Amino acid sequence: MYEIDIMTLFDLTVGDMMNESVLGRAQERDILRIEAHQIRDYTLNRQKQVDDYPYGGGRGAVMQADPLYQCWKHITDTYGPGHTIYLSPAGRTFTETDARRLRDDYCHLILVCGHYEGIDERFIEECVDEEISIGDFVLTGGELPAMVVADAVARLVPGVLSDPECFENESHWNGLLEYPQYSRPEEWHGRRVPDVLRSGNHKLVEQWRRKQSILRTRLRRPDLYAKLDLSSKEDQKLLRELEAEIEPEK
Ligand code: SAM
Repeated sequence: MYEIDIMTLFDLTVGDMMNESVLGRAQERDILRIEAHQIRDYTLNRQKQVDDYPYGGGRGAVMQADPLYQCWKHITDTYGPGHTIYLSPAGRTFTETDARRLRDDYCHLILVCGHYEGIDERFIEECVDEEISIGDFVLTGGELPAMVVADAVARLVPGVLSDPECFENESHWNGLLEYPQYSRPEEWHGRRVPDVLRSGNHKLVEQWRRKQSILRTRLRRPDLYAKLDLSSKEDQKLLRELEAEIEPEK
């Protein structure tokens, strides 16, 4: 079983989100355990206050080390040690490669959600193994980032999705963006599904999808495109076809 504990000020909301749909069903089947822990439950003051003013002055508040530590200790005493991640805009940016690494290298994650101006650095020094950002922007709290990381890792755990193909053909798995998808009806608002997808010819469908993935990646994410290895005979053929298709449009 893969285990994820989330330390948060909004345990009910996070718990509800993580118990829905695919992840909820995986928990019912004991493939996953995802649990949200209320940090306020580990304070020693009557107001359950978890923050205080920042040393050195300045506006805002900082989450104190001790409630975080007591919550973290409760989790590790109960479920054993876990790879501890602080969600922070100052962390390294999260990618699908990290999701795969976290699935492969660990079986227990502890995700720490910050608020206000962030959390006391001494908790990070003592308990945190890595800091992860979900992008170059700042949110009000770490709950959305923690749920993003938990979801991205959990869906890769064997048995959570019905078939590994569900994620192995998706954007970012092999450095490419996914091809366009269509469902019924065949024609909608005058827009038709490409003929090849209705041909029943699996080889042609595969070639079309790979070509579309390459084209999308090239147009939308030149940074990813530059890293692709398209040296195989099949890809070289697709690239020549693509060039020929793009050329007349210029
Ligand atoms: N003062 C902090 C800074 O400048 O780096 C920002 C604190 S932010 C307002 C409050 C909390 O939201 C952070 O402690 C963190 O847990 C979370 N957070 C905000 N943006 C994030 C991001 N891009 N990635 C991950 N966590 C983020």
